[in-house]
Amino acid sequence: MLNEAPLPPAEAVRIVAAAAPALPAETVPLDEALGRVLAADVASLCDHPTVDNSALDGYACRIADTAGAGPDRPVRLRLVGEAPAGRPFAGRVGMGEAVRIFTGAGVPAGADGIVPVEASREPEGAAGSVEVLAEARAADIRPKGQDLLDGHVYLRRGARLHAGSLGLAAAMGHDRLEVAGRPRVALLTTGDEVIPPDRPLAPGQVYDSNAASIMALGRAAGADMVRLPAIGDDTGALREALGAAGGADLLLTSGGVSMGRYDLVRDLLFERGEVTFWKLAMKPGGPALFGRLGETAVLGLPGNPVSSMVVFLVLARAYIDAALGRTDPPPYLDRRWARARQRLRAAGSKESLLRVRLFEEASATEVAPLTNQSSGVLRSMAEADALAVVPPGRDVAPGESVAVIPLAGHLR
Ligand code: AMP
Ligand code: MG
Repeated sequence: MLNEAPLPPAEAVRIVAAAAPALPAETVPLDEALGRVLAADVASLCDHPTVDNSALDGYACRIADTAGAGPDRPVRLRLVGEAPAGRPFAGRVGMGEAVRIFTGAGVPAGADGIVPVEASREPEGAAGSVEVLAEARAADIRPKGQDLLDGHVYLRRGARLHAGSLGLAAAMGHDRLEVAGRPRVALLTTGDEVIPPDRPLAPGQVYDSNAASIMALGRAAGADMVRLPAIGDDTGALREALGAAGGADLLLTSGGVSMGRYDLVRDLLFERGEVTFWKLAMKPGGPALFGRLGETAVLGLPGNPVSSMVVFLVLARAYIDAALGRTDPPPYLDRRWARARQRLRAAGSKESLLRVRLFEEASATEVAPLTNQSSGVLRSMAEADALAVVPPGRDVAPGESVAVIPLAGHLR
C-alpha cells in the first residue's frame, strides 16, 4: 500500500534493495574485471611463494658459519654456485660455503640465512670466495606459503574488484573470475525546458545536467547504463519512451515527479504502473517515487540536479549494489563520524542531507556546510566532500558529532 506520510529514507533503502533482481553470473578475463563484483569466493590454486626464497640479493649460507661477522671482522666463505630467480641451485650448501643468490630465488638446501650483498665483498686475488661483513639472517628468507596457501580463500563473494584484488587473483593462479551480472539501468530525462549542452540556451531553458551526472554515477556504480532519448513534458512521448525501456531492470526518470500539473511521470506511473512509494522524508529528494511498470522497476528522480544525484546515491545505489550482491554498504549506510564546526540546521520533519566540506584536524574530522544548500545549486555537489546526515527535528550544534557520508569514492 502506498505510503501516506513521506517515507523515512532508511525504509525506502530497504524497499528498493529488496526489489533488486538476482542476475546470472558471468566469467570475465582479469583485465575486464576491474570494478566488477565477485559472484563466488576465490581460493588460491598455489602456494606463494612456492618455495622458501630470498628477500634480497646476497649470499645464502649457514648462519652458524657467520657468527660474529661484522664490518671489522669479515668472515670468508667459499662460493660454490649461483641461484638466480627461477633457476635454483641444484647442490647443497655445506659448512663454510655460500651461494650467490638473487631476490626471489629459491634458497638452496643446507642454507638457513642470507647475507645482503651490501654487507659483503669479493676479495681480490681470492676468486671463488666472498667475505661477509654481517651475520646471515633467517628473517631474509621468505618462507614457502608466506603470502598464499593452496586452497585457502583470500577473496570473498560480494567484493568489488580493484587493482589490489586483481593482482591477488592473478597471484592465486586465476586468469578469469566469476563476477555478478550487471543490472541494466536506463535513464530517461524529461522536461520541456531541458536541452542538451551542445546548443545555445534560450531564456528559461536549462542544460541537461542530470543526464551527465546520473549516467556517470550509474557507470561508477557498476551498472550497465543505457541512455534513452530525452523527451519533453508530453504524455504521448512519455508513454512511448516508457514502452521502450522494457529491457531494463531499472528505469530511472529525471523530472516530472513533483506536485505540479506537468509532472507526468508521476501521473503515468500511478495510472499505468504500480507505485510502491512516493515522497521521502528527506531533503533534498522529497518528491522521489518508486514503483514498477510491467517487469521494469522505476525510480523517479526529482529534476532538481542536487536532488537527482542525492536520490541516486541513496536509492539507485541501494538497488544496484543489491543486484550486484555487494557486501560493502551502499552510500546511505556508509558513514563516518565528524564534528560540526557550525550549526547544521534540521529540515523540519525531514532528514536533511547537507553538502559539507570536511577538514582533518588533529583531534577529529570537522564539518562545515557549503553556503548554498538549494537543490538547484549543482556546484554544491561538485564541491562537497560529504553529505552530513542531520536527523529530523533537531539542529546539530557546533561541537556536536554528526554522521557523514563521504562522497569521493561514490562519485567516480
Ligand atoms: P521537475 O522535477 O520537473 O519539477 O524539475 C525541477 C527543476 O529541475 C526545474 O527547475 C527543472 O528545470 C530542473 N531540471 C529538470 N530536469 C533537469 C535536468 N535533466 N537537468 C538539469 N535540471 C533539470
Ligand atoms: Mg518539470
